[in-house]
Amino acid sequence: MNDKKMLSIRELYRIGRGPSSSHTMGPERASLQMKKKYPDADGYRVMLYGSLAMTGEGHGTDRVIRETLSPLTGEVVFDRKTPTERHPNMMDFTLFKKGKELARERVWSIGGGAIFPDCEGCGEGIYPLSTFHDIARECAANNLRLWQYAEAIEGKELFPYLEKVWGAMKASINRGLSVRGVLPGGLGTERRAQIIYQKKHIDESPQTRENRLVSSYAFAVGEENAAGGVIVTAPTCGSSGVLPAVLRYMQESRGFSDAEILHALAAAGVIGNIIKTNASISGAECGCQAEIGSACSMAAAALAELFGMGFDQMDYAAEVAIEHHLGLTCDPIGGLVQIPCIERNAVAAMRAINALSLANFLADSHKISFDLVVKTMYNTGTDLPLGYRETSSGGLAKYYPFEKN
Ligand code: SF4
Repeated sequence: MNDKKMLSIRELYRIGRGPSSSHTMGPERASLQMKKKYPDADGYRVMLYGSLAMTGEGHGTDRVIRETLSPLTGEVVFDRKTPTERHPNMMDFTLFKKGKELARERVWSIGGGAIFPDCEGCGEGIYPLSTFHDIARECAANNLRLWQYAEAIEGKELFPYLEKVWGAMKASINRGLSVRGVLPGGLGTERRAQIIYQKKHIDESPQTRENRLVSSYAFAVGEENAAGGVIVTAPTCGSSGVLPAVLRYMQESRGFSDAEILHALAAAGVIGNIIKTNASISGAECGCQAEIGSACSMAAAALAELFGMGFDQMDYAAEVAIEHHLGLTCDPIGGLVQIPCIERNAVAAMRAINALSLANFLADSHKISFDLVVKTMYNTGTDLPLGYRETSSGGLAKYYPFEKN
């Protein structure tokens, strides 16, 4: 669905309400676009297909559309039978005026809150290169680090935006750590971030402490997302806890400055953009490997930037991080971004730190490039049966004994 030129990193990191970038942020953006485009409309019918129809109820897709299109009146229909084309998150908007059809448009929510076609954010991609290999070569030729490459393309104004992103990430961790209770949706999932954060072992080793704190931060963001709180897509809502968790832990434990964190965010943004452009960041399109696997890769690259690693090491760290998520299915129980999603953020955050350690020792002997694994991830994802691509009809979602009240 994407052209081959990468868009701004700003399109990747979106600050907004959870729980799903493709099932809430994308439809919200599409509804806003329709409202703006057809100011005379007084009614609507929105048909949701594919993954939007299968899990839209759990994600609150219909509620978001109704609220965004208000004061227009109309209906949102979950059509679970009509097959989708181009992308599994497909919707048809029909706008009416005094009962007469005004316009009909088909829109796709393609992951990370992005939609296609998108009149607001359309236009050409701004990065002339879109593979890690080409970008690394360009950086080597001009003696640039990855964040400097992003700055060269996007201008210095990228960093005030990333400052906002970092502020929103930290705020989501703090909010998530400060509350207890049960998440909405009927699954009875308890918030556990605070428990993990406070449950210090008596003779805790530094490694256990690291795992505990990193996990608590990832849980905090995942739970905020599930509760509809404000988070940053990194690259999606469901995977929004991985990157902030490792960055906050590293800033606290190693004293990295905010400026260094922003550089790491820029590097991670380029990595996320490469995946988004050449493969997918959508669980509905390629399973959870595209969401959590991509987030892990971004976090590993961010760490490589923080620790001043070379391009070979960053390539290895980002590659390892996504390689070992290949084939990971998307099977959220009850269509809610809770189980397995929240815990999965914590596991991926710890995995990103492990990927960095491996890259430190083994980068000169690796045989699989990041670009190759991105291509593999996409092909693996499109080969996955539909039940494992955010339809809540396979895997854990199928077998968990959950009945809605
Ligand atoms: S299982 Fe993964 S891809 Fe699917 S909704 Fe959860 S976090 Fe997103």
